Amino acid sequence: MVDLVKSLETCCGCGACAAVCPHGAITMREDADGYVYPEVDSGRCVDCGACLSACRFTTAEKRQPAAVYAAQWRRPELAGCASGGVFSALATQTLAAGGVVFGCRMQPEDQWHPVLCKAERPEELNLLRGSKYVWSSTGTAYREVRDALRSGRSVLFSGLPCQVAGLKGFLRRDYEGLVTVDIICHGTPPPRLFAAYVAELGRRRRGRMHDFRFRVKERGWGLYYYYYYYWQGDKLKKRCREYTRSVFYRLFLSSTLYRPSCYACPFAGRGRVADLTIGDCWGIGREHPELDREKGGPMSFREGVSCVLVNSPAGRRLLEAAAGELETAEVTYESVARYNQQLNHPSPRPAAREAYLAAFRHGGWRAVERTFLRRQWYPLMKEYVKKGLLSLKIVRR
Ligand SMILES: Cc1cc2nc3c(=O)[nH]c(=O)nc-3n(C[C@H](O)[C@H](O)[C@H](O)COP(=O)(O)OP(=O)(O)OC[C@H]3O[C@@H](n4cnc5c(N)ncnc54)[C@H](O)[C@@H]3O)c2cc1C
Repeated sequence: MVDLVKSLETCCGCGACAAVCPHGAITMREDADGYVYPEVDSGRCVDCGACLSACRFTTAEKRQPAAVYAAQWRRPELAGCASGGVFSALATQTLAAGGVVFGCRMQPEDQWHPVLCKAERPEELNLLRGSKYVWSSTGTAYREVRDALRSGRSVLFSGLPCQVAGLKGFLRRDYEGLVTVDIICHGTPPPRLFAAYVAELGRRRRGRMHDFRFRVKERGWGLYYYYYYYWQGDKLKKRCREYTRSVFYRLFLSSTLYRPSCYACPFAGRGRVADLTIGDCWGIGREHPELDREKGGPMSFREGVSCVLVNSPAGRRLLEAAAGELETAEVTYESVARYNQQLNHPSPRPAAREAYLAAFRHGGWRAVERTFLRRQWYPLMKEYVKKGLLSLKIVRR
């Protein structure tokens, strides 16, 4: 039987091994902490090695970006995108040309577990918009991508860099109709933790949680505001909060509970695995203030600006085809990477990670919050005195 997971640091859980196995011998399963790994059924495995050759976590071919742009989608739906809406511009172009799009959708009905799904109509893109700061599974996406390509359709596949590497390992050959987009990725916490956090929110609101959005721009781009909807009786209510009020969000931004492989991510650097790379164009206000609409430029910084790294001729062709949807301005790689550490190195692994995991194992989400308050008590007090707030309601919503 094959030894698939040599170390936790070298398995991103993309599921290429399970999707490629011709004998259905591999199942993706959660471990004790909710991180997903392949499990091999020794009764079915015939040692053919297909799974090992599909794994590209450490062997993916990478390319240096040939050009870098700041970009913003021109449509009003930009408000629902995390950054400058480049994903939507590329997806809209792909659908208009008769292609299919794959992106990530949150699944409240399936325990808040994000999964990569297919969109064939513009209105289906709505669910794929926005960042879900949780590890996502590829589900049946790899096989659906292959089926679409084999039937001659063009495909835009958007995912985490490790998922793009997994797709390439699964496909084993190049397809002319395929364009891949990876997002600059900080790292991903497990869905089980997010589901526990959301369940706790629902309990506190005495309601049933309906939706959760990580990035909203009601108060501008770059400020981390989230909102959630919940049912109270037959009324759908909405709350909008700054990230400082959420322990989950704080632990996400401090890189505390990512998969072990995220701390050793081989894709957090200049070499890119996808045709295009998209992320937030943090620092645009300092590097290129002249591009802001308020100063007579073409983009509204308040509404979000993306960076786009063009890593291949196929990526360049799609970006050019979508040019009518986008405002763009060429910038340098350095001016983007200065403000985006994931273009330089993976997130560092905090020493407190194990304490939080142990707390979650033994006492669920509430124990994670208690651990956070205990460990952060002094900095939190300082923060709240500085902000002039009177109560310590802070991290519980
Ligand atoms: C876990 C995570 C960490 C990130 N870290 C950084 C970072 O450190 N620096 C940075 O500049 N940008 C980061 N981003 C990317 C950023 O938040 C935006 O997603 C990106 O700029 C695209 O914005 P947009 O406006 O073009 O697209 P949007 O409309 O916001 O679309 C988001 C795109 O990301 C995909 N996506 C969203 N969530 C997931 C997920 N969980 N798994 C796989 N695909 C997903 C969607 O399918 C869609 O293609 C991160 C995103 C995620 C999901």
